[in-house]
Amino acid sequence: MLKVDGGKTQVLFDHSAQFLSAPSSYVSTSPSSPSDTWNKWVCEMECDGILREWDSQRIGTLSRGGVFSPRATDSGGVQPRALIGSGGMRAIPAYMARNLEIDRPKWVSKARQNKDGTWRLWHYQEELDDFDYLVVAHNGKCAARLMKSAGPALAPVARLLETKFGANLRGGSTPRFMQLCSLYVLMVVLDGPVPLPTPNLEGAFVEGVPALSWVADQGAKLGQNVEKGPENEGTRRAWVIVSSPTFAEEHKVPQENIPIETAAEVTSLLLQAFRLALGKEGREYDAAFKVSTSALQLWGAGNPISVADVSEEVPFIFQASTGCGVCGDWMLAPSIPAAARH
Ligand SMILES: Cc1cc2nc3c(=O)[nH]c(=O)nc-3n(C[C@H](O)[C@H](O)[C@H](O)COP(=O)(O)OP(=O)(O)OC[C@H]3O[C@@H](n4cnc5c(N)ncnc54)[C@H](O)[C@@H]3O)c2cc1C
Repeated sequence: MLKVDGGKTQVLFDHSAQFLSAPSSYVSTSPSSPSDTWNKWVCEMECDGILREWDSQRIGTLSRGGVFSPRATDSGGVQPRALIGSGGMRAIPAYMARNLEIDRPKWVSKARQNKDGTWRLWHYQEELDDFDYLVVAHNGKCAARLMKSAGPALAPVARLLETKFGANLRGGSTPRFMQLCSLYVLMVVLDGPVPLPTPNLEGAFVEGVPALSWVADQGAKLGQNVEKGPENEGTRRAWVIVSSPTFAEEHKVPQENIPIETAAEVTSLLLQAFRLALGKEGREYDAAFKVSTSALQLWGAGNPISVADVSEEVPFIFQASTGCGVCGDWMLAPSIPAAARH
């Protein structure tokens, strides 16, 4: 959420996941397979108005210089559907968690197994409850450290959680460690009007511009009117601009504490790249790209670029002797459907 007009107008941004790809129609596989469960959730969320369709004609590929092509059709000549959360993607996890008791934010900093096999957790100095099972739904340095310190029996679990970082996969197709890439996300309100190749362009994967991977108009996508401010003629636009993994690697800093000068440089470079993608670098467009307000997010552990060696049918790891499980998108693929299926 960004505030404009001296705090009077709030502009909503999807600054992580952008949309869900769904089959063109509901397809039931075997009654209890994980993909069937996901399809049912999607149907349920659509019926309850949590998900709504984003017109696939308005999503596509933006090639350097301002060439927009809508999404390709599947082998049957049908465009796959794109679904988004009503009022933002946050609606999806909120819906899925509606019947669960969730205590958050609660960073788990220590985990120990009790003599009776239950798990005791700590949030820094605060001792939390005892739990029958522990599920680690994340990987990376913190998760590996947490399990490494949980005792020798957890060493194999800790090893599975270790990751390396980098935009490109190291060590061939079966790397020794899981690998994660980073992504910068720029949320920006521009004075506009943003000169688009077609008014249909609302979201696009970017090609031919090394710094970028995705851009999307948050006003059009989320149905919010951000256009009219006290100092413009109703031309204002809100865009989310997602970097490429390579760009994020080149400009990586601690994500909790992005230095002001890095934020300014990255913001400027991503905006230049956006103009390059649209083919509107000329000075005559400077006014349209004037920044009204912006915010920058670095997803240090953004997306997995390698996946664990698990099967589609059992897309998680469970150590029965300790009651400890491991799951996450990195079991299958870097997407919400893959994460939801574990
Ligand atoms: C910029 C970006 C754009 C994306 N776009 C899309 C898209 O368009 N479509 C799509 O399907 N997917 C997209 N993805 C991927 C999608 O967001 C992920 O695949 C999905 O969120 C993974 O879910 P997860 O539950 O496995 O992990 P996460 O969503 O990463 O959840 C892990 C959680 O564990 C918490 N955690 C970690 N350690 C601890 C601890 N010690 N104590 C307590 N909590 C802890 C974290 O805070 C986090 O909330 C995108 C990702 C990024 C970064």
